[in-house]
Amino acid sequence: MEEKVAQLSIHQKLSKLAANLWWSWDPEVTEVFRLIDRQRFDELNHNPVLLLKEYPPDRLEQRAREAVLHSRVHWAYRRFSEYLESSTTWGATHAAILGQGPVAYFSAEFGLHESLPIYSGGLGVLAGDHLKSASDLGLQLIGIGLFYHEGYFVQAIDSHGWQQEEYPRLSADALPLKVVENSAGPVIVRVDTRNGAIHARILHLAVGRIDLYLLDTDIPQNTPEDRKLTARLYGGDQRTRIRQELLLGVGGVRALKALGITPNVIHMNEGHSAFAPLEVIRERMQDDGLPFDRALKDTASRCVFTTHTPVPAGHDRFDAGLIDEHLGPLADTLGLNLHGMMGLGRVDPQHDGETFCMTVLALKMCRIANGVSSLHGVVSRDMWSSLWPWRSVEEIPIGHITNGVHVPTWLASQMRVLYDRVLPENWFQRSGQAEVWRSFESTTPGELWEIHSTLKNRLIVYARENAVDQARRRGESDSVVRDLETMFDPRALTIGFARRFAPYKRADLILKDLDFLARLIADVDRPVQFIFAGKAHPADERGKQILQQIYRLTREEPFRGRVLILENYSIDMGRKLVQGVDVWLNNPRRPLEASGTSGQKVVLNGGLNCSVLDGWWAEAYDGKNGFAIGNGRTHSNQDLQDARDGADLYRVLTEEVIPLFFERDRDDLPQQWISRMKRAIRTLGWRFNADRMVMDYATHSYVPAAGGLSCSIVSMP
Ligand SMILES: *Cc1c(COP(=O)(O)O)cnc(C)c1O
Repeated sequence: MEEKVAQLSIHQKLSKLAANLWWSWDPEVTEVFRLIDRQRFDELNHNPVLLLKEYPPDRLEQRAREAVLHSRVHWAYRRFSEYLESSTTWGATHAAILGQGPVAYFSAEFGLHESLPIYSGGLGVLAGDHLKSASDLGLQLIGIGLFYHEGYFVQAIDSHGWQQEEYPRLSADALPLKVVENSAGPVIVRVDTRNGAIHARILHLAVGRIDLYLLDTDIPQNTPEDRKLTARLYGGDQRTRIRQELLLGVGGVRALKALGITPNVIHMNEGHSAFAPLEVIRERMQDDGLPFDRALKDTASRCVFTTHTPVPAGHDRFDAGLIDEHLGPLADTLGLNLHGMMGLGRVDPQHDGETFCMTVLALKMCRIANGVSSLHGVVSRDMWSSLWPWRSVEEIPIGHITNGVHVPTWLASQMRVLYDRVLPENWFQRSGQAEVWRSFESTTPGELWEIHSTLKNRLIVYARENAVDQARRRGESDSVVRDLETMFDPRALTIGFARRFAPYKRADLILKDLDFLARLIADVDRPVQFIFAGKAHPADERGKQILQQIYRLTREEPFRGRVLILENYSIDMGRKLVQGVDVWLNNPRRPLEASGTSGQKVVLNGGLNCSVLDGWWAEAYDGKNGFAIGNGRTHSNQDLQDARDGADLYRVLTEEVIPLFFERDRDDLPQQWISRMKRAIRTLGWRFNADRMVMDYATHSYVPAAGGLSCSIVSMP
């Protein structure tokens, strides 16, 4: 084995590293790809598969000699092999039962890396982080999703500030994707509808130790219409939506079968995949001769469901016509008529006026369900209490597991070096445990501030470059471009706001009182500046208007050069923002942010959150580890709520955030501010961490479900 490894060429080793996304969360390996050709690596969206296409073996060999890369490549490859082969993992010890059959984790989007844009926002990034932590922990888990060959979209902002969407085509062979084949050729999954079958091929992506399978309908077996079925994430109409969800759920289970994988647990990440258990029930009836009711009961005891949506309108609903067309053939084999099938997606099965709701189906098809923060658990129990009319609301069987982020993905390497020094030796493998972070208190304030300042300066350079590129593309005058090259002040309090431009997130809350904002911006002694970024869903006119409003502000005095909006928010841009800001602003309309995760990424890098007490922040804020907007109460009148939150946002900024940031000691250090940074890292780093989250899923959800326990969890951690 050792000998064989040694015989691999540099090109072969790097090709193997590029074929597994593990490289993207190992900073040393990422650095090797960067050192080959920094400029091209950036231009290619950090896609090493494409980079290696430009470096055939001879050229790569020469480049490796120039840059003295040989020993780094050998070392990286050895670490990779050790990572894949290690058997002494958390999962092997704490979730051994999954050795009998893995968890199949279904999600409509996966946000793993900027080169694979099959995510729209937090839900996808969460799924990506879940896979990465499951890999690090050695949990037996397999991902199932769809391959969108036009992805989400590339955002451009035109000279009117209006969002334009572009859909460049992704090609499987420009990515670390492999077509799954057997001796007869590509494995094809088939799902019947009343109007013919949908076919899909299966693409495989290696995410560390985890296999992710993505279904793709762009194959000759399909009609031209169905070839485009998986083209875009959240594109098309209701019919597209149900066909995508049919493929994800039913097609996903069929894909597992074709691959010879028998999962022990099915995890539905959001309701999009809720058709999956129906196909498992069909298998049980066919293979084991069980009647429908028994098969349902058995299947549900092995299914777990995570809901992410606290708004009733956010849940997918389909009418009887669409259900019959798409679920009809499956219903026939289950022995259900249309009324019976519709009943599975209705709160009241007898109520013919009710549409078919995917969340209702998911809740009926599982025995363990959870929301994604403590507050969201409360909201979800209330929202779905009508499904269990005989129970009091506290007894509704929906618990919560609060979201977390994958530390290696979001952590700046400079911060990692600091952690390596002040935290216990193997902190990286145990970052989901509280005691590991205690010794962070011993960090010297000056050092932490220096690292933060370096990261902040890097962000400012990046933001200027992005703004200059935008301006050039819009054909702006030289003087405008020149202004942009020097705008943004490294001394100013830098506040970031980046996320999807869904109206409930209220990117425009800070614009409610422009005179006030102008005064903040124009203060020469205590300057403040803002960076915004985010995409609006292509069909969301209101979201686009908010974006336009911010864009217009960036052109006006006194905001010009102090308020900036960056184009085309992505995982890569997100990383730069969360690593460099002083303050991360989050002001959703409570309680509509089920969890939120971007602020958790900020914590790890030393930024402070200034947030409405919603989602994760409602349970994270302790009075000294960041800032709170509002008092955690909500008003039923939305306008009134917005006005109150807006006023409180101004109050917090002027009375708490700005004075604390500019209060300096003789060495120009903001001691009180730095204390808050330290406290945030120490109290929050371990909790809002994807390792902790995946361990909670394993302990409270996967292991009980794998044992077939029908426990209903009301109060999870
Ligand atoms: C983390 C992340 C999100 C989620 O942000 P929220 O503030 O939780 O909505 C969305 N998009 C990208 C690219 C992210 O990295």
